[in-house]
Amino acid sequence: MRPERLLEYIPPVCVIGGGIALAAGGSGIPSALGSTSAVGVAGLSLMLVGATAGLLANVMLRRQSRNLAKQASESFSPGNLQPLEPPANILGPLVRSINECLAESERIVQGAQEQVRELEIQLKVATSQRRQAQAIIESINDAVLVTNAFDEVILANASAGKTLGFDPATIDRQPVDQVITDAALATAIRDVRLSGNPNERRESEHRFRLSPRDPERVFKLTLSAIAQSGKEPAGVVAVFHDMTRENEIARLKNEFVSSVSHELRTPLASIRAYVEMLIDGEAQDAKTAREFYDIIHAEADRLGRLIDNILSISRIESGLVEVKKAPVCPTVIVKQALEVIGPQAKLKNISIEEQLEPAFYQVNADREMLYQAVLNLLSNAVKYTREGGTVTARVSVDEAAKRCTVRVIDTGVGIPAKDLPFVFEKFFRVEENKSVAKGTGLGLSLVKNIIETAHKGRMFVESEQGRGSCFGFELPLC
Ligand code: ADP
Repeated sequence: MRPERLLEYIPPVCVIGGGIALAAGGSGIPSALGSTSAVGVAGLSLMLVGATAGLLANVMLRRQSRNLAKQASESFSPGNLQPLEPPANILGPLVRSINECLAESERIVQGAQEQVRELEIQLKVATSQRRQAQAIIESINDAVLVTNAFDEVILANASAGKTLGFDPATIDRQPVDQVITDAALATAIRDVRLSGNPNERRESEHRFRLSPRDPERVFKLTLSAIAQSGKEPAGVVAVFHDMTRENEIARLKNEFVSSVSHELRTPLASIRAYVEMLIDGEAQDAKTAREFYDIIHAEADRLGRLIDNILSISRIESGLVEVKKAPVCPTVIVKQALEVIGPQAKLKNISIEEQLEPAFYQVNADREMLYQAVLNLLSNAVKYTREGGTVTARVSVDEAAKRCTVRVIDTGVGIPAKDLPFVFEKFFRVEENKSVAKGTGLGLSLVKNIIETAHKGRMFVESEQGRGSCFGFELPLC
């Protein structure tokens, strides 16, 4: 109750006081009319005394009520409810009960304030725990998704969003089967929660594609129930480890090992056969023996090249080889390679054309590796160009783009369009060109690895069957 309202109680009290006095005085009026004047005077006096007493009481009550109102307005400020001094009159009990009400309401307010403080602390703790959990799962490369006891997604990292195709920022306790489009996956997560085992943990391999146009991806899926003492799981943590690349690497390794063994076996078998013939005395004259020795020599050479190329490719691919980069001039390197290839070209009456930029343009590269790449391209051009053809070595520079391009162009047999996408794959050989020259199918793979893996450049090819080919690469200028 507001203190000003106390005043409302004062006038009736005063009126009652005055009334009692008047009643006491008034009781003499009929006797004054009907009997003696002494009694009438006494009655009148009593009436006056009563009225005066009533007025005095009224004045005193008004003063006290004003005091109380003043005291109340000084004592009652928000958060500071001081009890009022109860007056020693009929307002005393009223003030005391008001004080009790105030004390009780103050206790209630304090209790509520404490609860608010506790809730604020709990909210802060919960918010910081959530942030910590989010930071932990964000630091994990694998896709991580957490559901609650109602199968709603409560946490997910960016990787989960990318893997499963949703925006983690918009996740707000959505049902897991609305977040994950793959129904089998959502069911697997729900099954772990429904297992009833708070320590349930399941591992499985899961294959899915985000959309029909996306490639299929393979995941190792680990589902762990969130334990809560002795009860059903409080939710599930799902971790998706992408195995697509690992599986692909394992497949490529197997393919590589079987291709290598196959490729090594061919020259080995040939060497063994000719050695056996020599041992059996099948080379009866010196000329035949010489032929056998030449074949063994050529096959041993091929075996050596094969092994060298395999080692070079696997060293570059695995990053084991040290790439010693320094400013080198592509024009100089091309000239050196042309000097080596010149005699082979001459043997086939192939003319060599040079279209080279001045030697001051440089690229940052490993001299030996770059030389090996250019030599392989020139060697292929000569190998797959028939007698009388032309091989052109071109070095061009785009200063604006800060790029140097090396091209080896020939007028040779060319490559069928269907085979062009595969020419840089290990052991790939164009069927139609096998009769034109011998090879291992590793040269172009090595060149591509040198340019793209070791130097972060770009390799390209253009070819037309029967008209010729252009193999080349781009590297940034120094
Ligand atoms: P190879 O040792 O067989 O020459 P490469 O990896 O160097 O292996 O080349 C792969 C295949 O690409 C070759 O077998 C050949 O059929 C084709 N090829 C490469 N260079 C040329 C070229 N300049 N002209 C025509 N075909 C080529």
